[in-house]
Amino acid sequence: MDLPKKKLGFGLMRLPKKDDEIILDETIDMVDAFMDAGFTYFDTAFVYQGSEPVMKKAITERYPRDRFTAASKMAAWKITPTFSAYDMLNTSLERTGLDYFDYYLLHSLQDTHMEECNRNGCWDAVKKLKEEGKIRHIGFSFHGRPELLRQILEEHSEMEFVQLQVNYLDMDSPFVEAKTNLEIAREFGKPVIVMEPVKGGLLSSVSKDLLPEGTSAADLALRFAGNLEGVMAVLSGMSSLKQVQENIATFSPLRPLSEEDLKAIDAVRKHYSSGKMIQCTACRYCTAGCPKHIDIPLVFRAVNDLRTIGEHGRPRNYYKDLVDAGRIGKASDCIKCRKCESVCPQHLPITDLLKECSAILDDGKEV
Ligand code: SF4
Ligand code: SF4
Repeated sequence: MDLPKKKLGFGLMRLPKKDDEIILDETIDMVDAFMDAGFTYFDTAFVYQGSEPVMKKAITERYPRDRFTAASKMAAWKITPTFSAYDMLNTSLERTGLDYFDYYLLHSLQDTHMEECNRNGCWDAVKKLKEEGKIRHIGFSFHGRPELLRQILEEHSEMEFVQLQVNYLDMDSPFVEAKTNLEIAREFGKPVIVMEPVKGGLLSSVSKDLLPEGTSAADLALRFAGNLEGVMAVLSGMSSLKQVQENIATFSPLRPLSEEDLKAIDAVRKHYSSGKMIQCTACRYCTAGCPKHIDIPLVFRAVNDLRTIGEHGRPRNYYKDLVDAGRIGKASDCIKCRKCESVCPQHLPITDLLKECSAILDDGKEV
């Protein structure tokens, strides 16, 4: 299977936005910096709002097809009797302006989405679309238990690669089990694409006091992921030109971890395991279905910030301003319908966590 020339992949899910619209000019500057430095891998998905059309404008229409590799993903949960798996792939090709995807993934497999994949004929569809030349390589992104990963790889030898959540905080997490999942992928000889290497931004805001001199938090997290055996690419959902430039520097070339780096990783792990951090990656899969319009990742981020950097950055006020302006629902508005919990890839007990956060943000309880 073809592997990307360089390991850093550009995730197009956290592009800069204004009034909920992706800012095209800024995105183009980011894409150009990435391409100029010799990187080629871009990752989007059917469900990343506005991302596929921006791939068309910023990449497809501006670069020859052999200069970049493109990945997108099939969301089995969006397939309906009148919108098939084939319609979804063709819509993604049309939106991105491409004739084929280099990599195409069944998106976010876990128990629920696995059932939808089976019911909606996704496995056969991707095989057929590969035969038709609309996909070069097929794989899946995964958020489930190791037993399910093993089952998929045993039953679907046609899957060529796996996308896994891997970062140094999740290696032994009982919710993610990154180390075990990585070992299973290696056992089956499947190259791994790493997602969430900085855990939705959490590992890029680690205090400088815990880091080796001259190493940034993001640099440490990306080098941890990039140096793991069997990893073919590390995705970073970049949001600014500065981030692109910093990540390029990290991968040019990718330095191995030193003794000092490993000690720092241990220190950060200890710090977070003792600090009651909410393990939300800000993927936002939970927000669209919330009937009370609660911005769940924003609530969790505010409380995490209060627990790490305190009132610096005024997270409590930021949350209150948005609530008062009627732009988001209050954490205490939650009616416990649990729609959010059914789609959270991190399997977080969101309703319980919101109760805890509401006491802090709405009622002023100490963290
Ligand atoms: S359980 Fe609460 S936060 Fe989750 S979707 Fe329902 S109302 Fe929204
Ligand atoms: S609570 Fe879960 S689904 Fe929602 S943003 Fe966080 S990780 Fe994603």
